[in-house]
Amino acid sequence: MTPEEHALWLETGRLLFAGPIAFELGVADMAQLPHADVPEIALAGRSNVGKSSLINAITGRLKLARASTEPGRTRELNFFRVGDTLRLVDLPGYGYAKASKADSAKWMALTRDYLRGRPPLKRVLMLIDARHGVKPYDTDVMEALDKAAVTYQLVLTKADKVKPTEAEALVTATQAAIAKRPAAHPEVIATSSETGLGIEQLRAEIAALA
Ligand code: GDP
Repeated sequence: MTPEEHALWLETGRLLFAGPIAFELGVADMAQLPHADVPEIALAGRSNVGKSSLINAITGRLKLARASTEPGRTRELNFFRVGDTLRLVDLPGYGYAKASKADSAKWMALTRDYLRGRPPLKRVLMLIDARHGVKPYDTDVMEALDKAAVTYQLVLTKADKVKPTEAEALVTATQAAIAKRPAAHPEVIATSSETGLGIEQLRAEIAALA
């Protein structure tokens, strides 16, 4: 990309998220999914990875996604409408230690059904805590996405909590680790909802899929 193209690419992302954005609905059942009329980008990650904070940072709306400290609230797929062109889908956080087995099984089934059978789904942003790196739970999800041929991109969260050199090293190591995964996007993005690191880039990536 030339500098001009890069600036235009970033501007497209900025404009997309400068327009109207609203919570549309929460879905606990496949029968309730909204009409599949616009592309969807879903966000997945372990509980507490910083998913709500990232959605709020991307959209520039501080309270759009609720911080998910309680497991009960986060069992649904939450759909956010971004203008006329896109939906962001907040998937239930996985790996919550205190969730009951029955609860875990239910959201896993719902999430899996959504991921496998949703034509407008363009990409899953798989969030990874920059302090912890990829964990076995994350690998399980990546394997499921590879099998379902759903493209996913790894996004490191809370990069402000590690040194810049450590964040860079984790980006490089993670890119190497996923290089052979069939459905993984090759580029890993380091972000911080606190400092805004990577947020412009993520907006632009999402806008390019809309
Ligand atoms: P979720 O469970 O994945 O939705 O995670 P939340 O967005 O609720 O964040 C979990 C915790 O991590 C909260 O205490 C946030 O304030 C904190 N957090 C989230 N993103 C960041 C970040 O980029 N930097 C820092 N330092 N803390 C963050």
